[in-house]
Amino acid sequence: MQVLTGLSQKEIEIITDNLHQSKFRARQIHNWIYLKSASSIDDMTDLSKDFREQLKKIAVVSNVKIKIKQISSDGTIKYLLEYPDGECVETVLMRFDNRANLTACVSSQVGCAVNCSFCATGKRGFVRNLTYKEIIEQVLTIQRDTGLKVTNVVFMGQGEPLLNLDNVLKAMEIFNESFQIGQRRITVSTSGIIPGIKRLAELDMQSTLAISLHAPEHDLRKKLMPIEEKFNLDELKLALKDYVQKTGRRITVEYLLIKDLNDTVPCAKKLAEYLFDLKCNVNIIPYNPTADNDYQRPSNNAIMRFKCLLEHSGKKVTVRLERGADIDAACGQLKGKVN
Ligand code: SAH
Ligand code: SF4
Repeated sequence: MQVLTGLSQKEIEIITDNLHQSKFRARQIHNWIYLKSASSIDDMTDLSKDFREQLKKIAVVSNVKIKIKQISSDGTIKYLLEYPDGECVETVLMRFDNRANLTACVSSQVGCAVNCSFCATGKRGFVRNLTYKEIIEQVLTIQRDTGLKVTNVVFMGQGEPLLNLDNVLKAMEIFNESFQIGQRRITVSTSGIIPGIKRLAELDMQSTLAISLHAPEHDLRKKLMPIEEKFNLDELKLALKDYVQKTGRRITVEYLLIKDLNDTVPCAKKLAEYLFDLKCNVNIIPYNPTADNDYQRPSNNAIMRFKCLLEHSGKKVTVRLERGADIDAACGQLKGKVN
């Protein structure tokens, strides 16, 4: 059985050609999948009954199952999806105050090899890459289930997107071309995989690069993110400056704030020094609790103090709104398992 999800219009034309149908039919099928969120071939009501029967013999819309769906008190929806091989990942739909914006937080891998000490996904280790079809299937599942159109995509679910860059780039292309989601509405977050950053710097893209920095100096960062051994802050800085210079794009620096660890005044000052000549905005992420470590979320006062210190250095700073914590859907709480 052929799975229609993930096929480009050209690829669908191969199917319609084989069934002696016109290219116009391929366009209709394409729109049903990406823009009108058909769940089944029977949903495609402007195709003749005969043609639908023919198509059903050789193709299905999707082969992904919703295993669990949870709705948070703030409206965030978390799905646990199961692929045909039995592997599962989460995908999260967030609605912000501006109701017109619907952001899908997608996973790029099952598990993650980077093993950051604060992250539930990392604790699980790396299982496998997702194909680009499996990535876009996450957004299609959200659209089919809610009947709503996703407007923004962030690669902030399970996995390190720059360690699966071919599939991530292909998925981004389809989000842009088939889902009609503007490149500027797509954000890729990385723990700082320098070869991936260099590759992105060479592409002419409008999407946002977000870097999980989380500490302003080597020893502390190493404790939080073992990847610092391989790609350290000094090299990262060079790669980021080069990225900004080549693309002209401002990057987002994500800074996870953990109580009494990296939320101190000296840390804020060092971070401001590290960032002073980098074209970036800063997004502070107060730590969300996960099992397997004893980190704590800082007080609101500590968060505000850190924010103000950075603002004094001239940066635009936002604090990430916590979404879906009551259903373990917030940053770092995804582990692809049934609780
Ligand atoms: N692997 C990528 C993208 C996924 S994680 C990356 O690390 O950038 C998205 C963001 O959530 C990252 O900035 C990550 O560091 C952060 N995060 C991970 N665990 C968290 C936790 N327990 N609380 C808050 N943020 C967390
Ligand atoms: Fe992987 Fe990102 Fe979690 Fe680190 S924070 S373990 S890179 S998913």
